[in-house]
Amino acid sequence: MTVVIKIGTSNITHATGNLNIRHVEQMVKVISDLKNAGHRVVLVSSGAIAMGVGKLGLSGRPEDMPGKQAAAAVGQCELMYIYDKLFSEYNHVVAQLLLTGSDVADEKRRTNFQNTMSRLLDMGALPIINENDTVATEEIAVGDNDSLGAIVACAIGADLLVLLSDIDGLYTADPHKDPSAELITTVEEVTDRIEALAGAAGSGLAVGGMATKLKAAKAAMAQGIDMVIANGARPELLYDIVAGEPVGTRFLGKR
Ligand code: GLU
Repeated sequence: MTVVIKIGTSNITHATGNLNIRHVEQMVKVISDLKNAGHRVVLVSSGAIAMGVGKLGLSGRPEDMPGKQAAAAVGQCELMYIYDKLFSEYNHVVAQLLLTGSDVADEKRRTNFQNTMSRLLDMGALPIINENDTVATEEIAVGDNDSLGAIVACAIGADLLVLLSDIDGLYTADPHKDPSAELITTVEEVTDRIEALAGAAGSGLAVGGMATKLKAAKAAMAQGIDMVIANGARPELLYDIVAGEPVGTRFLGKR
């Protein structure tokens, strides 16, 4: 199976922006094992800005565009260094691809991207994708990695898109505020009622929230791709997700 896994900033960094070593190590181990089992895996990883904040010792996420871009330039390098080092331990080869919205909107560049991806996957490499934050100003940016994950999944015709986050899935209400909130396990269609459940919030150093996840779900479902939202704090859940077991919230692709 070809699976695109989006890893959120909160899954791999602490609130300080420094690397969450335990989480990253567990994540890399499970993903390496999925590849060993024969799955074609693509990562869309956030965390460049946060890791730049950590590495530069900044007090928080910069507010201005050049500040964010500078942090991303430092952090992206660190992020790939860590992935390369950890995946190498399990004999997996990583590849870095940095995209902007205009790259995938342009037909020629999109085709180039698809060709490169297909060759990388044939070669057994693990493509790791992020937005090219250092040049992606608002007009040309995808803007969030939930959407980028959906774009990548659709472009390569993946079977499954997994959005790992700091929440277990989509709830009937905000579980932090409402103790009666229940996890919705399956969504067949993103209706107005479902959309009304998505608050706008993203936390701390992260960008997306439930709204960007539902947008990604709609794009994936329309292409017949299942999408799962699950908690990245437990990377071993990926085994069950790939096996089709009920974990988090599964959005069913159009059959
Ligand atoms: N590209 C951003 C980063 O690496 C993250 C965007 C997102 O999390 O949606 O920091």
